[in-house]
Amino acid sequence: MSIHDKCAIFGVFGDEEAANLTYLGLYALQHRGQESTGIISTDGEQFHAHKARGLVADNFDKQILSTLKGDMAIGHNRYSTTGASSVSNIQPFAAHLNSGDISIAHNGNLINSESIRHKLVEDGAIFHTSSDTENFLQLLARRREFTLNERLSSVFHQVMGAYSLVIMTKNSLIGAVDPYGIRPLSLGKKGDSYILSSESCAFDLIEAEFVRDILPGEIITIDKNGPKSFFFCKPVMNHCIFEYVYFSRPDSLLWGKSVYKVREKMGMILAEELETEADIVIPVPDSGIPAALGFAKQSGIRFEIGLMRNHYVGRTFIEPSQSIRHFGVKIKLNPIRSVVEGKNVVVIDDSIVRGTTSKKIIKMIKEAGAKKVHMRISSPPFISPCFYGIDTPTRRELIASSHTTEEIRRHITADSLNFLSLNGMIRATGKKNFCTACFTGNYPIKLKNSPEYGTPLPFI
Ligand code: AMP
Repeated sequence: MSIHDKCAIFGVFGDEEAANLTYLGLYALQHRGQESTGIISTDGEQFHAHKARGLVADNFDKQILSTLKGDMAIGHNRYSTTGASSVSNIQPFAAHLNSGDISIAHNGNLINSESIRHKLVEDGAIFHTSSDTENFLQLLARRREFTLNERLSSVFHQVMGAYSLVIMTKNSLIGAVDPYGIRPLSLGKKGDSYILSSESCAFDLIEAEFVRDILPGEIITIDKNGPKSFFFCKPVMNHCIFEYVYFSRPDSLLWGKSVYKVREKMGMILAEELETEADIVIPVPDSGIPAALGFAKQSGIRFEIGLMRNHYVGRTFIEPSQSIRHFGVKIKLNPIRSVVEGKNVVVIDDSIVRGTTSKKIIKMIKEAGAKKVHMRISSPPFISPCFYGIDTPTRRELIASSHTTEEIRRHITADSLNFLSLNGMIRATGKKNFCTACFTGNYPIKLKNSPEYGTPLPFI
């Protein structure tokens, strides 16, 4: 796997089973981060925490969950984009501020965290982690406005970048999304309790109902009087389109659209944009499945499962012998010879990043007897790194940043290769105003080398 989304965040207000529900929520959001996981709960008196490296299911049990007392909790799954993968970087973070105890969990990535950190350290701050998320706490500690919301609001005018946050005090749960709305955050309700989650698929597991998305530039505070919300700045709406392409689970409702339906539509438009002659369409599981179904529907070419995924592959495995070809991909994916043998095959994947996966997959499918392999990608060429919460390889490693489609085709040894157009991808969402930086190089939150870097946020 080449690039990773940073994180999942989750929070519960007003449920006796807050920690258990957070555990389940994080379990449903495991796809957004597998490096570490953590929950902090509160009974109104103090915070109770458990954090560990690895997967949710491996790190919590009944005994541990019973120590996470109280009717409020927040949780986090991490895949690092900023900061080393040390134990001190495992979220949620907690701090004692002059305004009271606070804990925080963050999905996204700040682009000015180094300069903020530098200034704070010059000023005497002692950082406990190497994570950009700690900036929120360090900045909050220095604010003197009267209410927490006022303090948060001014901190949000100091930081730049992508952030969806869940924040917990001893009597409230707060959700906040940056003015661009890069990463998702949704509000749910379960009986009288409120839930915040990166994705709505977690609501289904805990039998909560989806209420709405938290909007760009919004701070929502949930306490015993229910939820109250306000906007700390004018929204500039630029959701990450890669959430639809790859990250989010197909059973999530994201920014008002079913992720499954958007991916299916991407496949349909992909088929429409270039007619292809073939016997079967097969997906690269799992992320290519909805687009492959759409492609098959639109083109009339039969859908088949031609690659099997082993779902039990852990993060590390011992390579038994150098002599096994394509081992890294083979341990995850295996072609079904009886499906592909003697066939002209269309293979659908959601993206090409470095180009290594496609190359290995095509080799395997050809070795399993396919006559021709036509590679179709349900997003445009991935040309620019993400600075807003996806750990992408450097520009140099992104094959499409320096190679034409024909050069990539030759590299991955496909008989033909086609990418979904930018317009086609956006059309499939039925929406506008996305961050498409990874496909276009247009960064909505201006980077350090841009003349517009540091443009102040539009105040309400
Ligand atoms: P690459 O081998 O670098 O071209 O990676 C492309 C493959 O990685 C495709 O099969 C994608 O489904 C998958 N992929 C795309 N984005 C990510 C990500 N953020 N994390 C893990 N895998 C990804």
